[in-house]
Amino acid sequence: MRRIYLDHNATTPVHPEVLKEMENALELTYGNPSTLYLIGTEAKKKLEEARRRVASRIGAKTEEIIFTGGGTEANNLALFGICRARKKEGNHIITSKIEHDSVLNSAKALERDGFNITYLPVDSYGMVDPGELSKAIRPDTILISIMHSNNETGTIQPIKDMTEIAREKGIPFHTDAVQSIGKINVDVAGFGADLLTIASHKIYGPKGVGALYIKKGTRLQPILYGGHQEKGYRPGTEDVPGIIGFGKAAEISMKNTEDNRLVVLRDRLYNSLSERIEMVRLNGHPVKRLPNTLNISIEFVEGEGMVLALDDLGISVGTGSACATATLEPSHVLAAMGVPPQIAHCTLRFSLGWDTTDEDVDYVIGVLPDVVKKMRGFSPLYKEYLRKSRKEAV
Ligand SMILES: *Cc1c(COP(=O)(O)O)cnc(C)c1O
Repeated sequence: MRRIYLDHNATTPVHPEVLKEMENALELTYGNPSTLYLIGTEAKKKLEEARRRVASRIGAKTEEIIFTGGGTEANNLALFGICRARKKEGNHIITSKIEHDSVLNSAKALERDGFNITYLPVDSYGMVDPGELSKAIRPDTILISIMHSNNETGTIQPIKDMTEIAREKGIPFHTDAVQSIGKINVDVAGFGADLLTIASHKIYGPKGVGALYIKKGTRLQPILYGGHQEKGYRPGTEDVPGIIGFGKAAEISMKNTEDNRLVVLRDRLYNSLSERIEMVRLNGHPVKRLPNTLNISIEFVEGEGMVLALDDLGISVGTGSACATATLEPSHVLAAMGVPPQIAHCTLRFSLGWDTTDEDVDYVIGVLPDVVKKMRGFSPLYKEYLRKSRKEAV
């Protein structure tokens, strides 16, 4: 059966050119980059070339890039690294309610270690208000961490306004830019963050590789201890083939940024679905949003059920609501935006990629209305709703 992959915010397929470089590297670039002989120094050269590629992707200096074992690790390094280095100066951290779990749960762990955390609210579009950030800053604030764009809704944050506030107060500013790289322009020198997180597998590179941009002069403690690799910030022999793949992916992603084709496809998907299905609502900012991301709630149809029904039809999509066990936990992002739980449970997240075609989108537009109709047919709440609206109409 034809498979249509529309969950690029969860992960992306490895780009064919990335795969080619990695295959080569796995076979030939096996040297340890910390050794002195040719096999090692060639690996070192490739490693530094990858670092240059990643740095230039975000407008950073090469030496400001530290490779990590993924986005989660880079976020942990940023939060724990800064807090451990600055704990004598204060113990207050500001973040937001809509961060990725790797930031939120790091913050919670720091809270257990005695740090105070302010979780900034968002508006109904999922946007943080820079004015709220200003108000939350205290004399003992040592770190601000606000994501560049949200993985569930695609809402893009007013980062530059917030980095300016942080800079005025001399507080380090970290941003999780995992979802923004390759989708919108990310120029770290331009908006002036002190730390920035990137993950390779969200930009058509391999999984388990990422990077933390650390602006020159930022004080940070490592979270792992070992050798001198990555200037001691991330000891352990580097994943050379993975990093080479990451570098290639970063280079390729430059060409795909600001892809208007995806905006057109995404908006056609949304408009056609809203025409064919009643009670569809858009979650996230209508304009200030990643070009590839469409998060919608389809009332009276449970998200997980739709994901499974679409999977049977060859379509892979995500759901906004993270369903743990029998106790369905609605998405913390939608909850922070004020979406009621019963609507948050009815959520689908489509995230398009460079491999998404017009036909893929047409196929979804063709099959989803029937899936919804069938599932609403099983819903006692929907029947109740119909009965009520009929009564009102009489
Ligand atoms: C995927 C993701 C991460 C985690 O990256 P991993 O490489 O999967 O650990 C962090 N933040 C955001 C916003 C993400 O989408």
